[in-house]
Amino acid sequence: MGNDYYIGIDLGGSFIKGAAISPEGIILSNNKRPTESKAPTPQIIDNIYNVIKELIGMHGGNPLALGMGIPGAIQFEKGVVTRSPHFPNWNHFDIRSAFAQKISVPFFIDNDANCAALGELWQGSGKITSNFCLLTLGTGIGGGIVLDKKLLRGADGMAAEIGHLIVEPEGKPCGCGGRGCLEKYVSAHSAVEQALEQFDSAVAGNLCRAANSMKDKVTSKLLFDLATEGDPFCASLFQTMGKYLGIGFADLVHIFNIERIIIGGGMMAAWDLLIPPAIREMKSRTYQIPAERVKVVPAECGEDAGVLGAVYLAKTGL
Ligand SMILES: [Zn+2]
Repeated sequence: MGNDYYIGIDLGGSFIKGAAISPEGIILSNNKRPTESKAPTPQIIDNIYNVIKELIGMHGGNPLALGMGIPGAIQFEKGVVTRSPHFPNWNHFDIRSAFAQKISVPFFIDNDANCAALGELWQGSGKITSNFCLLTLGTGIGGGIVLDKKLLRGADGMAAEIGHLIVEPEGKPCGCGGRGCLEKYVSAHSAVEQALEQFDSAVAGNLCRAANSMKDKVTSKLLFDLATEGDPFCASLFQTMGKYLGIGFADLVHIFNIERIIIGGGMMAAWDLLIPPAIREMKSRTYQIPAERVKVVPAECGEDAGVLGAVYLAKTGL
């Protein structure tokens, strides 16, 4: 067996996750350290470089190439971060040049959700398909779109902002500058927000008792537990979220005629509450042929999707 390996980095606001990965997609070793996203840029770059250096120390030689997933708007060809929510100083930041001074191997970057989609394409639920959308349901909604086994990036690397599909024309304002975006209606945060709006009314009686009448005791976990136990109010919150999600699915099916919608992220735990109403809603709003083709399936790579996708990017240059 040769000593060939790639390094993939998944850069988050809290942690830098890295892995050495074989050309076949086997994770050889993991490494992780805090990002310190508030620190000056050279410090953050050093933190990332230390994760890489330690992985190289474990495997020797040099990696064949390096790939990195970064939150925000990324210019894939140039290796430039246009803008990133976690790193406000990174405006048109040439991160590829910053690393060229430290390590001389081919270096690729892309948006973190795009990398997660590539991870699923290479080693997960996207393996057997050519056309799919990945939705990562967590505090917000991340998205990646793969068509003919290639990422859809768009002119500014900002395609696949699935969380900002509009599901309520006059709905809640969103950080993107619009209103009524999908992620304002389908997230752990929005579930809590909606529950609190009706906290004092009779319909929320069970919730109010379970939270000892204290609004700050209301968490998405509590809503989930009560909904699972059959509380009608909490169950209806998830059903409403599922409905909005289904409207988003319908848009994706209409535009892309995809084979799969792959769902990842922390809200996967609420699959049984969210996904059946989402599929019903989608089917009620789409042509029959594409609606029958598309399968909604869970992501398979879990926490490793980002590093796997970063390596797939580095390996294929796609
Ligand atoms: Zn938005």
